Parts: sequence; structure tokens; C-alpha cells
Amino acid sequence: MIPVAELREVTKSYPGGVTALDGVSLTVAAGELVAVVGPSGSGKSTLLHLLGTLDRPSSGTVLVEGKDVSRMSDRRLSVLRARRIGFVFQQFHLAAGVSALDNVADGLLYAGPSPAERRRRARAALERVGLGHRLGHRPHQLSGGEKQRVAIARAVVGEPAMLLADEPTGALDSASGAGVLDLLRELAASGTAVVVITHDLEIAASLPRQVRVRDGRIVHDTVAAGAEVAR
Ligand code: ADP
Repeated sequence: MIPVAELREVTKSYPGGVTALDGVSLTVAAGELVAVVGPSGSGKSTLLHLLGTLDRPSSGTVLVEGKDVSRMSDRRLSVLRARRIGFVFQQFHLAAGVSALDNVADGLLYAGPSPAERRRRARAALERVGLGHRLGHRPHQLSGGEKQRVAIARAVVGEPAMLLADEPTGALDSASGAGVLDLLRELAASGTAVVVITHDLEIAASLPRQVRVRDGRIVHDTVAAGAEVAR
């Protein structure tokens, strides 16, 4: 197993005394597809932000591809995020008035290839998510499911080691949501570590691993049907 990201005894407290995560340890490997579930306020987003180095822990260690991120400057962390981690959110966060192709190409701005190369790779990423026929469409000309596919293409155009998705199907009808889930499965099958927060227990149950969070702790980590590891 190749660990892509690892939390070791991570605690995150916010000013005012909220402990959002309380001694959480979690390893995510290449090719895994992990559902994170739990009640609102249980710490799911905080967990995802820490895995994605968007936030730093109050105590404990976060490793990405074996590197302790607490030792990295903010600048090195942004380079790590830009190159190795993709993010997808419920509300897509596409640039309005900008074509699907350029929205995806912008995902490579930090990686440094030429504009022509960025567009070539953006086209390939959009083809991969089934939107090769929508390159010139702007976000308002796309359905919700298509917008989320563009967002996923943007997140993976740089071939990140890990894709983190916060309720990616939350704003979609069930058919579009199922399409997005299929895409996440394909990405995991190609070796990307995929972690997805979902409120939808049916979706969670369909994924190979479920991490259940409650009051800032991991209360269950279910790897494949029946193989449940209580923490
Ligand atoms: P979830 O994603 O499961 O809904 P969160 O990780 O967003 O949970 O939040 C966990 C807890 O931390 C909640 O009690 C929330 O109010 C608190 N929290 C989250 N972000 C902040 C913040 N920036 N400042 C203060 N408290 C926060």
C-alpha cells in the first residue's frame, strides 16, 4: 500500500474552544475511494481541509506522500497543493463567463506548461469526463452535472495524487450524481486516492471504504463489506 496522505493523532481546535478534530489517525492510499460520513458539525470538512493542507493541525502530524507538511512554508504548501491535490466542491466554483476549456486549463496555471499545452491537456481532461463536445460552453450553458464534470476535469488535469471532494453530488439530481460517482470510481481505479464527503448514505454504502466521523473522532472505518475496523 502506498500512503498518499496520512493524519497521525491530529487535533484541530478553533478559537472559542471548539475541538473540530480530536486525535484522528487516518491513512489514504493510492487508488482508494473513501467516503467520509457523519452528522453536520462532526468534523468532516475539517478532516478534508487538513488532508488537503488547506489548514494546519493544532497538534499531530499530517503527511502528504510521506512529507510532513508542518515543515513546509505556506509557499511550498501551495505548490504541493497545486501539483498533487485536486479539490471539488458542492458548488462547482467555476469562473463565470469562461469556457469549459479555459476553466480546466486554468487548473494548470501553477504547473507551468505553455498556454497551448495547457489547452491540449484541458481538452484531454474534458474528453475523459465525457465533455469533449462542450469545450466552448460557459458555465451558465451547462447543466449541474456537466458543471461538476468540468470541475472534476479541472481538479485532475494536473494528475494529482489525491482528489478531495466535499459533497460533490449535493447540488445534483440523482442521475447526474451517479455519473459523478462513476467518474470518481474511474479516477480511483486509475490510481488516484479519492476522498469524498457525502451526506448520502446510499452513496457511502456503495463505496469501498467508509470513514464515519462523530464529535471530531473516527468512530468506524469500514474497509470493504464486512471487514469493519472499530477505532
Ligand atoms: P462538518 O463538515 O462535519 O459539518 P466541520 O468540520 O465543518 O463539520 O466543523 C466541525 C466543528 O468545527 C463544528 O462545530 C464547526 O462549527 C466548527 N468549525 C468549523 N470551522 C470553524 C472555524 N473556522 N472557526 C470556528 N469553528 C469552526
